[in-house]
Amino acid sequence: MLQAALAPMDQPTAAKASALPQPVRVRLTAIPVNATAGVERARAASAPHLAGIEREFQAIQHRRQPPRVALAQLRALAGQVSDIVAPHLACAKGCSHCCHLHVSVTEAEAQLIGWEIRRKPRKVKKPTVGPTNYGYHMPCTFLDADGRCSIHQHRPLVCRLLLNVDVDELLCQLIPDALVPMPRYDTHDFQVVLAKLLFDDQVADIRDWFPTR
Ligand code: SF4
Repeated sequence: MLQAALAPMDQPTAAKASALPQPVRVRLTAIPVNATAGVERARAASAPHLAGIEREFQAIQHRRQPPRVALAQLRALAGQVSDIVAPHLACAKGCSHCCHLHVSVTEAEAQLIGWEIRRKPRKVKKPTVGPTNYGYHMPCTFLDADGRCSIHQHRPLVCRLLLNVDVDELLCQLIPDALVPMPRYDTHDFQVVLAKLLFDDQVADIRDWFPTR
């Protein structure tokens, strides 16, 4: 697990790609080079820690413990990976693009976050925020006025694992009716373990669990 690698990327159709702004189109042609260099930087940064991370990753899956305890450990490990590699990636620049996307959180994780931040998550019967209605008009509840995460220590797993291996945040932008592909560090194995731990958990956007007050 945790081979430093580029996650599989969505690609826009030719028609949608031609609608993207020129700087974005130019940058997309540089992804093979930029992303390879980003992954290499992440690999070099994580190399001294990899054996320990791998050991803990396996232990989380094999310890006899309640899924919620394993979830807390998985979150901690994801935070550790993020702390190690993010300073070497585009995410180091402090952009808050991801905080305007759909932020998918399981009920168990919402409760864990709620316990940590002393705020009870709402009961969500029917999620209202989903993959089709997020956007710049709807920032995450926890994004503060300075564009920073106000619960950084307690942020969801998904926020810890979305890491842009490009040279800067140019590709972190939402363009109506267009998909701007962003080269990501491959953290798929974490998602697989999360899905195994909490396979029947309710999933909703963080804004549904914790609406803006
Ligand atoms: S929890 Fe924090 S990092 Fe995650 S989307 Fe919200 S503001 Fe951004």
